[in-house]
Amino acid sequence: MRLLVVEDEPALLKSIAMRLNEEGYSIDTAEDGEEAQDFIETAEYDCIILDIMLPAIDGLTILKRLRNNRVNTPVLILTAMDAIDDRVKGLDLGADDYLAKPFSFDELLARIRALLRRQVETRETVVTIADLALDTISHTVIRDGKNIELTAKEYSILEYMLKNKGRLLTRSQIADHVWNYDFDGNSNIVDVYIRYLRKKIDDNFDNKLIHTVRGSGYILQDKEES
Ligand code: CA
Repeated sequence: MRLLVVEDEPALLKSIAMRLNEEGYSIDTAEDGEEAQDFIETAEYDCIILDIMLPAIDGLTILKRLRNNRVNTPVLILTAMDAIDDRVKGLDLGADDYLAKPFSFDELLARIRALLRRQVETRETVVTIADLALDTISHTVIRDGKNIELTAKEYSILEYMLKNKGRLLTRSQIADHVWNYDFDGNSNIVDVYIRYLRKKIDDNFDNKLIHTVRGSGYILQDKEES
């Protein structure tokens, strides 16, 4: 899952980004409205955390442009404690949720999870394929009753593939959702991580779930399903 965090207070931006990184999200950060606009125009995000009071272009204007361009990415706005007006305007302009500052990181994380669930049109917190289950809250993965330890990136790839199961995903689609701008798109890092993931979730099982589509990408599919 790839998120954009827009916040002009450097310390707060840094701590939000750090915390989200720890949770396995891939994060781009912007410190003003113009920078945010550039990111939004060039990348596809799963969720945007948007401060309202920003230099250059304010958050409400960014939000308005986003919705005018028919971009439906979930947006969580950050407002000042007493800025009820901003919250009302933000929600009316198409924000999906808001948090008033100061907020707890646990609440921010829970609200992001809720927005991401809404986006894939499922309120289920556990996604499954065959005998594999991934819990999007505890970040645990179980196959055939056994717990599988994944790194944050491996988890992130598997979650993205599960939410798109049965669909061909190109290397660049996977990279876009799992890595941020620091990622070198030319490297074969996606293949490397798919190999790690296969070792953990497929190698010991007859029913392989990750399938390579030669020259195109990967597909997560239960081929034994009737
Ligand atoms: Ca601000």
